[in-house]
This record gives sequence, C-alpha cells and structure tokens, in this order.
Amino acid sequence: MKWAIIGTWKMSYQGILKASQQLEQNLSASDAVLTAIHDVEENPNFHSVGYSGLPNKEGIITCDAGYMDGTTLQVGAVGALEHVIHAIDVAKKCSETRFNNVLVGQGANIFAQKNGFANENLMSEETYQYYLKQLQNPKPLAAYNGHDTVGVLACDQKKHLIAATSTSGLFMKEPGRIGDSPLVGCGFYADDTIGCACATGVGEEIMRGCLSYDVIIRMKQGQDPQTAASQCVAEFSKRMIKQKGYVDAISLICMNQEGEIGVGTNVKFAFTYANDQHMPTIYIAEPKENGTSVRAITDSDIDID
Ligand code: ASP
Repeated sequence: MKWAIIGTWKMSYQGILKASQQLEQNLSASDAVLTAIHDVEENPNFHSVGYSGLPNKEGIITCDAGYMDGTTLQVGAVGALEHVIHAIDVAKKCSETRFNNVLVGQGANIFAQKNGFANENLMSEETYQYYLKQLQNPKPLAAYNGHDTVGVLACDQKKHLIAATSTSGLFMKEPGRIGDSPLVGCGFYADDTIGCACATGVGEEIMRGCLSYDVIIRMKQGQDPQTAASQCVAEFSKRMIKQKGYVDAISLICMNQEGEIGVGTNVKFAFTYANDQHMPTIYIAEPKENGTSVRAITDSDIDID
C-alpha cells in the first residue's frame, strides 16, 4: 500500500476525498490530515466541530484539538479555545515549539491571536437556536447527544504517520471542560515505529483508560490493528460495566505504517477509509461479543452520523 487515510464519522468523507488526492500526489500526511479536518471544521452542517459547533452552558463555543507527528513525536494541543474555526491549526502551531505545546483557555486564545489566527464567530443561527431551545426546555442530555470528534490518521508515501483531532466537545458542558481530544495518549497518538490512533465518544470515559495509547501498546506487542482496537474497547467497556454498571460511548480508530487499520467501538460507529487502491468509502463498525465487526454502509444506516 502506498498511502492510507481514515477519519471518524460520516462527516469526514468529503475531507478524506480531498486529502486522498493529496496523498496520491505525494503530499505529506500532515497536509492530508489538515485538509480533511479543515473541511469538517468549516462545514456549517456539522454541529460538533469548528464553525457551527455546539456551545457550553454559557452559550460559548469552545474547541479542543490535538496533533501528533509520528516521526518526531512532537505533540501540540489546545483546549477550550474560543473564536478560531481551525482549532487544529493552532494545535499544530503549538507542536512546532520546544515548550508550551499544550495550551488551554485564555492562554490558547492569546496564543492564537498572537500567531495571526483570525478572530471569528463560530456560532451559526442554527446552533444558536438549538442552544436557546435547550435553555428554554432543559432536559438531561443523553451521553451521546450533540458531540462527535473528527479524528483523522494518515500514512503518506514516505510512511510518515500523523494523528489529529478537532471537536467542540460535549454540548452544554461546564465552561472550562475539556475532553479526551486534546489529551495526548487519550484522544490521539502517533509513532511511526508502531502506528497511530485516535478516539471519539465520551471523553471522560476515554481518558480513564488512555485508550489511544493503549491501542498503540497492543500494536507494539504484536497485535494487528483490528485486534488491538477491537479488544481494547471491548475489554475496557467490560471493566467499566463491572465497576460502575454502565459504559459511555467509545470509538477508536488506528493504523500502522502499512496503512492497515483497526476499529473498535461499543456503539454503532461510522468511519471513512481510503488508500491508493480504494476510493474513500464509509463503513459501519458495531460492537459484537468481545470485539467489533465492520461492514460497508447501507441505505438503512441513516440513523448514524
Ligand atoms: N470525545 C469528545 C469529547 O469528549 C466528543 C466526541 O468525540 O464525541 O469532548
């Protein structure tokens, strides 16, 4: 395989399509991952990432993003960042310096301004109305209602791996809350000598198990990506159910330097995958006894994001 790319949820499809062309033209995994994530961050129809994301309890949209380079192991991340549509670009910028790789809140905002990121309004009329409706008619939010991270992993023609995430996090979250997405080892990880991984789902659950790093360790110990991702989620979910009686949603994707992928989930989960021999295609992963099954999407899968 010359190159490969995978992204979480159906929303990653258009961006993966553009990024695939770049990988075919021998552009870097970094370029490809950023292209794929920008597409989702800009799209007003996706309400969990970037522009038109869903706000916190105070009606403010704050975004989290993480970026890791598998060659250098450089990491950059931002948490609770405001007014920047492309949070992933600020995370990448943070990865380029020796210190200050992880910035949150006001510090992240100031860093973004100083580095020339435009001050933008992320709230669309649609998300504002959605927020007002929630305020007027407060109801407990279901654990999987109003969030989803775009996570993208790419392997370029030089076998270089990148992992990246971007999200507006949980709808109606407490101000200052960050999820797994900007936490290295939880929401994302990349190491060219092993593989790369990223997560989506309820961050509070994912961070308990440092699940992106857990998958990498399993691959390091010799598991193939699909076994690693699928067993990681199944075992962790089982443990949480035993400990506290339930487990919140967790989905993980991973990839090795051969472009082979693995997917583990405890919910119905869509993802997009492409390589130099296969056009971008949306697949559905579902939990099964002790693991995860994967199949191509069908017309009956309209219920899934
Ligand atoms: N993991 C993200 C968070 O907890 C949300 C998601 O991926 O659905 O903020």
